[in-house]
Amino acid sequence: MNLEHDLKKLLPWAKIYPSSLSITPEGQALMLHRQGKDLLAVSGSLRELFEGTDEGEVRICPLTHKNRLALNYAFPHTAPRAFGRNIPTFGFGDRLGYANPMQLASLEGTGFLPVLAQQSMRELSLMGRSYKQVIDTASWAVFRQGWTQGFAADGDHLKTLEEVKFALAAGCTMITLDCSLVMCLPPDCAPGRGHWPADYLQNSAVEELGLRFDDDILEQLEQIYIGAFVLTRDVVEQAIKPACRPISLELSVDETEQLTSPEAHYYIANELRRADVEITSLAPRFVGEFHKAVDYIGNPDDFAAQLRRHASIADYFGHKLSLHSASEKYSVFPAFARETRGRCHVKTSGTSWLEAVECIAKQAPSLYRDMHAKALECFEDAKKLYMVHCDPGRIPALDTLSDSQLPTLLEMSSGDSRQLMHITYGFILDERDLSERLYAFMEKHRSFYEAEALDLYRRHLELLK
Ligand code: ZN
Repeated sequence: MNLEHDLKKLLPWAKIYPSSLSITPEGQALMLHRQGKDLLAVSGSLRELFEGTDEGEVRICPLTHKNRLALNYAFPHTAPRAFGRNIPTFGFGDRLGYANPMQLASLEGTGFLPVLAQQSMRELSLMGRSYKQVIDTASWAVFRQGWTQGFAADGDHLKTLEEVKFALAAGCTMITLDCSLVMCLPPDCAPGRGHWPADYLQNSAVEELGLRFDDDILEQLEQIYIGAFVLTRDVVEQAIKPACRPISLELSVDETEQLTSPEAHYYIANELRRADVEITSLAPRFVGEFHKAVDYIGNPDDFAAQLRRHASIADYFGHKLSLHSASEKYSVFPAFARETRGRCHVKTSGTSWLEAVECIAKQAPSLYRDMHAKALECFEDAKKLYMVHCDPGRIPALDTLSDSQLPTLLEMSSGDSRQLMHITYGFILDERDLSERLYAFMEKHRSFYEAEALDLYRRHLELLK
């Protein structure tokens, strides 16, 4: 029997996703779109795993959490996994839940594997979503696309042990531990070390890496990072080890004003190794400015020179180097790919949302105008949640622009409109009327959005080859 053939007879108006067809000895499964909804169709004894309604020999199943767990069981490649230290990965994030399929498509032939479900606590609470929902969406997208190489689920920028436990319980396979709350905050009991191990002062690796330590430098580094070590050890001992499954751990020291020197990078990695803690990747705070949704600001040569040193330290310890706030950092991608030679993670997040905003500006001017007005109204509040460099005063007043000029707002080289719309998503979606119109737009224009999103991600990955 052939499920695709049966479905065409049973439900002639449904749109079938041919790439989703999956065949097992127990039966067949595929995804279809019918009356505005994606659904799963299953045949054979495979049906018994899923909840749905039978149409002849075929069970039609809604994309619920319970059915997602059954899908993970029947097709293990649809469950999140951890990729470890040696596979290059690209983190996407999909706030609205419409971008995952094209994010996967953009990776074809690049060697990068996807971190699809990737949300911070801030994003979850602003979007009113849960990790479970986000992982559900990613699993279904993986199935729809027929993507068999797996994906990871990242509890992004988590700041406390409790947040990590929460994300792991929901099924995350990667933790990005953001140490910004505990940096430069030495615990009261911090023992001034007094003397430092030979790892730093007489060590050929330190010399070969061109690093220079002395007692003062080491003492300063200890003051800055000791709180991060305590948090990392707690997270490993009390959350990651007890989970008893492979989990990638990324240490993020990027969301701070404290530039990560090559010495600091070596020191962090070395102290963790001495404590028997293995990290998968480290996200340093690089030289220059990484503002949300606009290209790198700074001297690309300085960046490349510092990057080379960070990459050689990462190589020495065997962890990946991670680049955060990487949306649209086109000018630094080639250097990043060259220097890390695949031992890397690239993290973008809000860019799928901004692509949706661009589509709305092009296709639904009145909705865009209302969203923009709301964004201006709540900008001061949104700014408390996100670090941006945006001056709404430089954005032309909306009533001076024709509908066809709206998309150009998002192309302004200063990036003011981009950043404005980038950080205010939670407030926009909090307004019922706007949120309903926005989701209705996404449903109606899904293929337009997917084409634009695919193009956007391909532009990123093209430069990372
Ligand atoms: Zn970060």
